[in-house]
Amino acid sequence: MNVNRALFDDVMVPNYNPAKMIPVKGEGSRVWDQEGKEYVDFAGGIAVNCLGHCHPAMVKALTEQGNKLWHLSNVFTNEPAIRLAKKLTDATFAERVYFANSGAEANEAALKLARRWALDKFGAEKNQIIAFNKGFHGRTFFTVTVGGQPAYSDGFGPKPGAVQHVDYNDLAALEKLMSEQTCAVMMEPLQGEGGVISPDAEFVKGVRALCDKYNALLIFDEVQTGFGRTGSLYAYQQLGVNPDILSTAKALGGGFPIGAMLTTTEIAQHLKPGTHGSTYGGNPLACAVAEAVFDVVNTDDVLTGVQKREQLFKAKLAEINEKYDIFKDIRGKGLLIGAELNDKFDGKARDFLNAAAEEGTMVLVAGPSVIRFTPSLIIPEQDIAEGLERFERAVAKLVG
Ligand SMILES: *Cc1c(COP(=O)(O)O)cnc(C)c1O
Repeated sequence: MNVNRALFDDVMVPNYNPAKMIPVKGEGSRVWDQEGKEYVDFAGGIAVNCLGHCHPAMVKALTEQGNKLWHLSNVFTNEPAIRLAKKLTDATFAERVYFANSGAEANEAALKLARRWALDKFGAEKNQIIAFNKGFHGRTFFTVTVGGQPAYSDGFGPKPGAVQHVDYNDLAALEKLMSEQTCAVMMEPLQGEGGVISPDAEFVKGVRALCDKYNALLIFDEVQTGFGRTGSLYAYQQLGVNPDILSTAKALGGGFPIGAMLTTTEIAQHLKPGTHGSTYGGNPLACAVAEAVFDVVNTDDVLTGVQKREQLFKAKLAEINEKYDIFKDIRGKGLLIGAELNDKFDGKARDFLNAAAEEGTMVLVAGPSVIRFTPSLIIPEQDIAEGLERFERAVAKLVG
């Protein structure tokens, strides 16, 4: 069979439009395509490959578990799932874990739990969910409706109700909307897809205070910010605010599909037996890999290494900007970095992505005008230097 990009168009639903080249192999922060061309990977599978490609600890966990036990369903529990839940609860505010297979599913569980909690404790009127414009929470119909980009949720008929949005970092607008009918506020502790936008410290504290005032749950979507990405295991740990529910996925499995919802015992009890579930959730293969990722990521070495690498990225991006004057802002936290193009290049982020790939560096965009970098948390400094040199060549060509 001739496996190529043209065949993709023949056999796939056209909801994606992937690059022309097809990657076939990865090692650390390098990737090779069918032609043998090599790339430095600053995309990391969209903030997923937190230990790069084919990390030995992950390969070991996967092959060991693969020779032992693959799947049971939740009719039975399994050792890797229990171990991983114990480690996650020991390392966070949480006391209870629900496993899912993706970020959207973890968020779906979080939202259903919040609704059930409010119904049980306060009655049916307490059902309002407030989230933020430009926020992203996944593509199930509930989560995409809570996400703040109508373009993603429009066109599928009637949406789940009682969901409202305000601007991120606008505490006054949130306060105006909140009442005793507010069931939950859902937010990313740093908006990823929406353009790599940090919250003001006062804003996060204010959201927490409003949730307390109105007996509403605060849900942090840490699907992108979590698992070391911002330099702590979870981003909330640097914000001085605990959520009531936290969702995590992407880097949690380092490339193996898994998601989880974390919460307190008090809140968790409202998901009684039979109220929610998933065939694959807590699958032994996924949990064994995630446990191996956890053991590497949740160390001082890796977490302080993230902050060091952040400085390297930001310094070199600033240097490129000095020469070519393309960015109006270089921002983000840890290895979730956004570089916003200035007005001259407004809407052109994808051109930079394509030019970078041409030179052998994979980057991401976050909206039309922001170039996003979410590499492996342990990317070697040499790869950062070489990848950014290639990126600079792409910029030089594009800017001419
Ligand atoms: C990627 C992402 C999701 C969705 O995760 P999936 O695994 O694609 O379902 C949800 N929330 C945030 C913040 C994300 O970045």
